[in-house]
Amino acid sequence: MNVIDSSLLLDYLELGVLVIDEQGHILVWNRWLERYSGVKIGNAVGKKISEIFPEIIGSRIEYAIKSAIENKLASLLSPGLNPPILRLYKNNQDLKQGNRLQQLVHIVPLAKQSKACLVQIQDVTASIKRENQLRVQSAELRDITYRDPLTGIGNRRKFNEMIHKEFRQASVNKGVISLIMIDIDYFKAYNDNYGHQAGDDCIKLVAAILLISVKVPGNLVSRYGGEEFAIVLPNLEADQSLQLAEHIRNEVSKAETNLKDKITISVGVATIQPNSDRDINVLISEADSALYQAKANGRNCVATSSNLLVARDVTDWVPSISL
Ligand code: GH3
Ligand code: MG
Ligand code: MG
Repeated sequence: MNVIDSSLLLDYLELGVLVIDEQGHILVWNRWLERYSGVKIGNAVGKKISEIFPEIIGSRIEYAIKSAIENKLASLLSPGLNPPILRLYKNNQDLKQGNRLQQLVHIVPLAKQSKACLVQIQDVTASIKRENQLRVQSAELRDITYRDPLTGIGNRRKFNEMIHKEFRQASVNKGVISLIMIDIDYFKAYNDNYGHQAGDDCIKLVAAILLISVKVPGNLVSRYGGEEFAIVLPNLEADQSLQLAEHIRNEVSKAETNLKDKITISVGVATIQPNSDRDINVLISEADSALYQAKANGRNCVATSSNLLVARDVTDWVPSISL
């Protein structure tokens, strides 16, 4: 039977193997390290680790090495939490660009040689790259599920999520939250007269005007459905919301565009100081009722339920209409 010197195996390992004594001297340095650090075995063994890798001074690796040697504690330093510390490069191009290998570093105390530790370094660049790609893809997919493809603004799903989030926040802060609902007037007739594509252009125009007009921090403009839009306005009082709604209505009615015809919108506004989760439905139904009132009032106008500063039963509420 052939006997193999097991120390030779070190040079075939696809990971860096390093043994360090209590003074920080390098006792073992394998070929993998030679390849990716550019430091020959003969120039590394016997030197201090801080001479070869000055970047470890004060780093988590230095701390982990001390812990392993002095306290017999093992550490695993993962690249997700730590940027690559050691100057290890796959090739010259990465060296020039400063792209270090992504490193998973495992540091364990050596039981028998009590005052030394073993450091193993794995190249996990490929898996980190894959992880990042997956993260980007999943963010893109998430974005798609929350975006209306025609206008690029948030869709109904986004609206639902945001209104719940802002409502909770307003409850905690004991603040107000306003909701503006918008509907294009006589849009069916517009579609019938000028075609569906011309109708789509109208929807895009209104979305663009809403985005430009609403400058309140944390606002959310979304397409609620068909030719209807909603704007969630955290911390915006009733009178300010009404002003904003009137401004938007005016902007749409006077917009100089290359549309086939002028368009107008009707707008409903409601403001609430949340008391319970149930109030979300109160806010939506009040804004919707106000919008209905604006339609009933002849369209191209704003209606509000601005008396609704503190939540109450829907049945208590009497809308005050302002044109
Ligand atoms: P009102 O003034 O009462 O709001 O009348 P309206 O005609 O605007 O309302 P109605 O609900 O009768 O019609 C809405 C129209 O919106 C009908 C539908 O074909 C159109 N619509 C919904 N979504 C889209 C869309 O994405 N693109 C286009 N072009 N039209 C749409
Ligand atoms: Mg409608
Ligand atoms: Mg309409």
